[in-house]
Amino acid sequence: MSRFVDEFMAELRAKNPGEPEFHQAVMEVAESLEPVLDKKPQYRKAKILERIAEPERVIMFRVPWVDDKGEIQINKGYRVQMNSAIGPYKGGLRLHPSVYLGLLKFLAFEQVFKNSLTTLPMGGSKGGSNFDPKGKSDLEVMKFCQSFMTELCRHIGQFTDVPAGDIGVGGREIGFLFGQYKRVRNEFVGVLTGKGLNWGGSLIRPEATGYGTVYFAAEMLATRGETLEGKTCLVSGSGNVAQYATEKILDLGGKPVTLSDSSGYIYDEAGIDREKLAYVLELKNVKRGRISEYADTFKSAVFTARDDSKDFNPLWDHKADCAFPCATQNEVNAKDAQNLVRNGVYVITEGANMPTVPEGVELFVEKKLLYGPGKAANAGGVATSGLEMSQNSLRLNWTREEVDARLHGIMKAIHKQCINASAAYGFEGNYVAGANIAGFLKVADSMLDQGVV
Ligand code: NAP
Repeated sequence: MSRFVDEFMAELRAKNPGEPEFHQAVMEVAESLEPVLDKKPQYRKAKILERIAEPERVIMFRVPWVDDKGEIQINKGYRVQMNSAIGPYKGGLRLHPSVYLGLLKFLAFEQVFKNSLTTLPMGGSKGGSNFDPKGKSDLEVMKFCQSFMTELCRHIGQFTDVPAGDIGVGGREIGFLFGQYKRVRNEFVGVLTGKGLNWGGSLIRPEATGYGTVYFAAEMLATRGETLEGKTCLVSGSGNVAQYATEKILDLGGKPVTLSDSSGYIYDEAGIDREKLAYVLELKNVKRGRISEYADTFKSAVFTARDDSKDFNPLWDHKADCAFPCATQNEVNAKDAQNLVRNGVYVITEGANMPTVPEGVELFVEKKLLYGPGKAANAGGVATSGLEMSQNSLRLNWTREEVDARLHGIMKAIHKQCINASAAYGFEGNYVAGANIAGFLKVADSMLDQGVV
């Protein structure tokens, strides 16, 4: 590590103690930006990196609500508005017991670069709560969402900050949040994305992150004259991103064989076909059941329970060609990365945000695998949120084909930007450096234009 990165990181750690995910995300970017800062000293003089790593605003608030037993519950609510140099803040809301300020700062930081890569005018933010939607009734989820939005609605708006979904926030939650925003602010505007089709949503938005991730994998494969046809694919997660990544893998002729949730994973040697995927969508989105039930229904599948005493995740220890981590951060540890390489996996495309630990990233880059980091590969979700905002402003709805074609075009453009930026700075074929540099340049130049703000 160079002296500059060393000193920069030491200061960042001292200023932001106890936030390891945030340190991890910033460190990866800082390392890839060294040659850029050397070539363009104006960024260093204007302290662009230092400013990008400091949120423009952090909002923290109490979220009180009453559960079905009549008991008062209190959660923590957050919105981290990281950077608005190129557009209004934009980024998802996460509802998960692990949510704390440091986790949202990592996600908001990543979002700034990702949104810049989409080619659309969106700044970066992220928010959420340590509320756990699992096991809660619809009524409890509604009461929580209403309380959360009662405070959040003072800080967001169609031209200020436009939240969307993330872990634990799907169509149901966006509906409750939108309803409360409209009620309190008395305005029907596109203040959230991922909305229902009857009230301003865009076709393809639910599918977009998963579809986009697979489009990105296809672009990487195309650089070697290959396609997804006949490729065996490991997918983790079974939520929004995993479901639609699986669907697009099937569309492009691949064979998905795994899915997971926080209790374990299923391995279906025969492949997860469309009928089985339809079962998963019903299981997860309607019944809100566990992935283990898949193996009770389909006898070709084996369920393996999560075992935290193991130092690796057996999901990543199957023979395959491609891996799509689509669950959560740091779900691929150093040993998992070695197992993937040993099993012949050479395409790793991240639907989740920062799912691979730094040692794993290093290994994938060193082995010259086709490794698409989350901030490029999963940008299709927020890009389609951007398209939802455009449709809301135009008061028009584009067809499914039109949105999908735009999403596909954006994923190709992101891939190209990564390739070009990595080549320009001597990192040929390194998508991590390419994504970080390309995402940074547009934001950095805009910050220079706008002075010290
Ligand atoms: P989701 O619908 O809530 O699904 C999350 C999935 O990951 C579930 O299967 C969940 O299992 C599993 N999971 C979550 N936390 C876990 C943990 N600590 N350990 C093991 N499994 C865990 O969320 P999603 O929208 O698909 O998001 C998945 C990832 O994609 C996240 O990293 C998110 O930031 C990223 N992402 C999402 C979007 C989007 O548009 N939604 C866009 C870009 C990136 P359980 O149900 O058992 O918890």
